[in-house]
Amino acid sequence: MTIKDWFNKRKELQIAHRELEETQIDDSIGKLWIKCYNCNAQLLKKEVEDNMNVCPQCNYHFRINSETRIKQIFDDGTFNEMFTNILPTDPLEFEDTETYKNRLKAANEKTNLKEAVRCGVGKIDGETVSAAIMDFEYMGGSMGSVVGEKITLAMEYALENKIPMIAITASGGARMQESALSLMQMAKTSCAVARLNEAGILYITVLTEPTFGGVTASFATLGDVIIAEQGARIGFAGRRVIEQTIKQKLPSDFQTAEYLMKYGQIDILSSRKDLKSTISKVLKLHKPYEKNEEDNKKIKKNTATKKNTVTKSKKVKVEV
Ligand SMILES: [Zn+2]
Repeated sequence: MTIKDWFNKRKELQIAHRELEETQIDDSIGKLWIKCYNCNAQLLKKEVEDNMNVCPQCNYHFRINSETRIKQIFDDGTFNEMFTNILPTDPLEFEDTETYKNRLKAANEKTNLKEAVRCGVGKIDGETVSAAIMDFEYMGGSMGSVVGEKITLAMEYALENKIPMIAITASGGARMQESALSLMQMAKTSCAVARLNEAGILYITVLTEPTFGGVTASFATLGDVIIAEQGARIGFAGRRVIEQTIKQKLPSDFQTAEYLMKYGQIDILSSRKDLKSTISKVLKLHKPYEKNEEDNKKIKKNTATKKNTVTKSKKVKVEV
């Protein structure tokens, strides 16, 4: 071995060692710490997770996936996913910088999901509902033909079984790789909502960060009761596009849930901690009469017993 070889070998070893160290450091930091996008605080990931993925210092609501959302909203172990056999295809054989097929495959590997929405039946504080929960991590929660179909099927299930329907949205809009096929989903889901309306079935939408484009312009804003999660950005076109088109500066809180509440676009603004109880209250308030019958019978019975007691005591008084 010449001196030159020895130096080269030493350099290689040093580089390899440094790379190893770097990956180890990155791993441990990535796993344990998280930075708040709003207040820049360095937070323990566990602490944020225990706080429902809300920053304990500034109350910033981090984006959450469908899995976490289901855990937070539905009673433990009651959510049964349906329509999992409907999978996306590529009828247009679309290709931009990447083929649509490859994008679908990558999204599946990243999220372990088959599509950007999960539909099923579950219980919220004991109330059975049909639900569609969108996931922004799968291709930006975009609505393609499968997303539209699954949401429509969930609505039809609510219709058949006469149970309330809940749609929890998180989406960038229609899926451009499916072109007109994805745009048709806006009409399809809206027609399904109309059928729910005709049948008098309660339909609640919960808009979460972010809800945009074709989803906002169809089933998301057609709810009987529209709830939005605190801090969520909700709109049709993005802020920059609007500013460029109208050549005006928009207010800083434009397209936030708080802004929409101020102007009457949504009905209820809820923090993540209160979201489950808010939905549950709306469900209980709108419970149909037949389902309340048992409760009503109990109330009637109680009132009747009270009346009897009153009459008896009166009679007693008369006798005296
Ligand atoms: Zn924060």
